[in-house]
Amino acid sequence: MGPRIIVVGSLNMDLIARTPRLPQPGETVLGHEFDTAPGGKGANQAVAAARLGAQVAMVGRVGDDDYGQALLATMASDGVNTKHVTVDPEASTGVALIELDDAGENSIIVIPGANMRLTPADVQAAESMLAASDVLLLQLESPLPVVQHAIRAARTRGVTVVLNPAPARPLPVELLRDVDYLVPNETEAGLLVGREVSDTASARDAAHSLRGKGVRTVILTLGGQGALLIGEDDILVPAFKVKVVDTTAAGDAFVAGFAVALAGGRDLERAVGFANAAGALATTRLGAQPSLPTAAEVEALLTG
Ligand code: ADP
Repeated sequence: MGPRIIVVGSLNMDLIARTPRLPQPGETVLGHEFDTAPGGKGANQAVAAARLGAQVAMVGRVGDDDYGQALLATMASDGVNTKHVTVDPEASTGVALIELDDAGENSIIVIPGANMRLTPADVQAAESMLAASDVLLLQLESPLPVVQHAIRAARTRGVTVVLNPAPARPLPVELLRDVDYLVPNETEAGLLVGREVSDTASARDAAHSLRGKGVRTVILTLGGQGALLIGEDDILVPAFKVKVVDTTAAGDAFVAGFAVALAGGRDLERAVGFANAAGALATTRLGAQPSLPTAAEVEALLTG
């Protein structure tokens, strides 16, 4: 039996249109391909953690529509417990409408739909599952009061809190004080401290500021350079060298990898190494959920 992780977060269906060029306002262009793919940071991290061997339960909301049913089915096929994903009759399933042109430019409309109707009561309904979890994993694609409620509930039950503050937004210090492990990328860390983070020195500086605001440990991801672990220790854990195909979901694989390794009892530096391996593997394949690695793949990369 793997460690237990509960994810409170978003589920989206990505609708991806490939087109020679992006349309101007008022213009219609003929595209060449259309795909749908399950996404949303919460769902991506839940699926990532399940593939890495954890027992994962998800708390979230989808609409009463075909996309919602498809998301529930794909999560279940990855072994994620969706008992606490509520089907909301009043809202549409969250979608991201993604236009991708041949030059790699994109424009995206995200409609959060049911995700933004998640309530503290939804988290309360999953209370016994939360209490039995090793780690609570959250992102910021859900209403802030829900994130706050879940974090408080985890703390009172002694459940470790891992927050990936994505997408970037300012956060109240009372919330940061209750976070055990904050896992931002450079953009997110920069926004939280109010200054640019663009290299290892500014990242280290931002991580120390975040600790000053009460976060116990900061793990700041640095793309192809790996990640900084700043808590009682101050360590740069280097990235794995891989052939990068598409960095989509590298951050999601990293955060999930860290949560699984931590919940599984690895020490912090090894947990960040495990996360680096999961993140690196996700960059070697196209797409979000299809690119998320298994525990065996991560172990193979770690043992070289
Ligand atoms: P995000 O995708 O959220 O912007 P990063 O770009 O920092 O986050 O990537 C997250 C993690 O994924 C990194 O800390 C690293 O472990 C891994 N990663 C990302 N890009 C690469 C790369 N080019 N080579 C190896 N690992 C990578």
